[in-house]
Amino acid sequence: MKIGFVGLGIMGSAMAANLVKAGFQVTVWNRSSDARNLLAGMGAATVPTPRAVAERCDIVIAMMANPVAVIAVRDGSDGILAGLSSGKGYIDMSTVDADTSRESARLTHAAGALFLEAPVAGSRKPAEDATLTIMAAGDRELYDRSLSILEKMGKKLLFLGETGSAARMKLANNLVMAGMLTALSEGIALAAGSGLDLGQFLDVLDSGAVANPMFRLKGPQMAANGEFPAAFPLKHMQKDLRLALRLAEENGQPLFTTAVVNEQYKAALAEGLGDCDFAAVSRVIRKLS
Ligand code: NAP
Repeated sequence: MKIGFVGLGIMGSAMAANLVKAGFQVTVWNRSSDARNLLAGMGAATVPTPRAVAERCDIVIAMMANPVAVIAVRDGSDGILAGLSSGKGYIDMSTVDADTSRESARLTHAAGALFLEAPVAGSRKPAEDATLTIMAAGDRELYDRSLSILEKMGKKLLFLGETGSAARMKLANNLVMAGMLTALSEGIALAAGSGLDLGQFLDVLDSGAVANPMFRLKGPQMAANGEFPAAFPLKHMQKDLRLALRLAEENGQPLFTTAVVNEQYKAALAEGLGDCDFAAVSRVIRKLS
């Protein structure tokens, strides 16, 4: 099976690399050339447009920054849709809103192809280790046909039903993650400001009911308050909060804490921290303390 991969950022480059390593014939496209060259060096073919990826491949996967980027590679004369035809499949693994996904599904079906949305949980390291959680929804036939591909990128695969369900699941997951990290930021700020040892504070958290892998991973970096190289860029977490709040608005669902958490991430963006890891939100909170 010929696989195409469009969008070779932090996640996409690691996921595409795993498909190459697994022995699939992979054709890639990325807007900027560094990631393209990296994948070419590993054995992937490169082509000049997303359309050419779709024309050459049975299944095209996209892993884009946000809804605007999804549309940029999907539509137009050089876009993925222009290269799709009957029998092909388009899997969008980007984190987007359900409306963007449903529009992708509608346009893909109009081109005679099948569509799956498949956002992921897990960051740079799980992408490299092929241990992502993959939340899929859309055309079940394409999901079944793609299992051997998805299994090379993730360790837990879920099929959630109609297009839009996976997008909504991913946004609900991420608002929990964003809130947990701001709570940890405030705990670190309070502990540091009141003269406590931060190593001991993290140890106490890790010994009790709130122990979790994310605190274990991000806690020492946040306590040190140094550099925050991006595993999950802060600008993408703020995008997820924005989309979650919009979904809540549509449903009439109050999200009291998430609204405040979103303001903290917006303040971090305004501080120029968008390309840092999302743990850099702690900088904003510590600056105020
Ligand atoms: P990233 O490193 O910022 O990569 C984003 C990709 O989108 C790059 O390939 C970038 O191309 C491309 N892109 C952005 N704007 C574009 C445009 N207008 N036209 C064409 N291409 C464009 O992001 P990432 O961390 O890999 O995340 C990708 C997606 O996965 C996001 O939706 C994110 O929310 C989600 N996600 C990320 C993580 C994580 O931990 N990083 C975890 C789970 C889910 P260039 O290389 O040319 O800039």
